[in-house]
Amino acid sequence: MPVPKAELHLHIEGTLEPELAFALAARNGVTLPYVDTAALREAYRFSDLQSFLDLYYGLMAVLRTAEDFTELADAYLERAAAQGVRHAEIFFDPQAHTARGVPIGTVIEGLGASLDRAEERYGISTRLILCFLRDESAESALATLEAAKPYLHRITGVGLDSAEVGHPPAKFREVYEEAARLGLRRVAHAGEEGPAAYVREALDVLGVERIDHGLRCMEDPSLVERLARERVPLTLCPLSNVRLRVIDTLADHPLRAMMTAGLMVTVNSDDPAYFGGYVGDNFDGVRDALGLEPEQLRELARNSFEASFLEDDEARRERYLAEVEAYEFGGA
Ligand SMILES: [Zn+2]
Repeated sequence: MPVPKAELHLHIEGTLEPELAFALAARNGVTLPYVDTAALREAYRFSDLQSFLDLYYGLMAVLRTAEDFTELADAYLERAAAQGVRHAEIFFDPQAHTARGVPIGTVIEGLGASLDRAEERYGISTRLILCFLRDESAESALATLEAAKPYLHRITGVGLDSAEVGHPPAKFREVYEEAARLGLRRVAHAGEEGPAAYVREALDVLGVERIDHGLRCMEDPSLVERLARERVPLTLCPLSNVRLRVIDTLADHPLRAMMTAGLMVTVNSDDPAYFGGYVGDNFDGVRDALGLEPEQLRELARNSFEASFLEDDEARRERYLAEVEAYEFGGA
């Protein structure tokens, strides 16, 4: 069994495997522009973030009903459980669905039906994080948060994702202020393709508690020092970084240097159906490419629970952390 871990950077839409995409397309009468799953997988050769996003949003057309979202989340949880995930904080992009005429309530209730039984079925506790698309307007983000208000009992926090360059965090100051007033936790993607300055802005203007990706902080030593001092968690996604050409190979990943610099980093899968692996595969990938020792893998697992939004259930966090400490890494 893999080391117990929390997954903190996972877009549920990014868990749509080609087989499920074709099954949902058939059920919903949607025609996909690929002859079969092999042709679709062939399209997963991305040159950058935008080329991925184009395919990603196109494929979402198959998600129509609450049941579709329930099946999508069930499929993720089953795979995640097999890779040692004990707690998952799951992102979803309501605007990508409401823009296609799928009501936000359908999305949230569909996902919620799966998450309600995740612990019993898969042994995974869950939280849901509503993400705004940063290439949409600030007004659209505000309208999305407004539309989500009847469902806030299901939502732990807000995030910010999609095309980063040219869409600085400050654009979303107002909606993050409103989210804070509503008692929601705050995270944001920053410093993936965008500059280190976006990481600072996400902290200072949006008040985020975690940075998603954030690897370009390494270009700014004073920012690294601050992130380390304030113990700001960074949710890294190594396989995603290679697939989206942020780095050339896993061996080039700054994860080890980030740990040495005292940063609180975690390992996650981002959009696993598209990037060649789930969270356990990301752990194995960095272990092999960077030669991580068992105690460094334990630190990554420990960080994942310490960085998770379990303040409402500290007893659970302690249980998970005890599992991490008791875990015995094998020889391989
Ligand atoms: Zn992401």
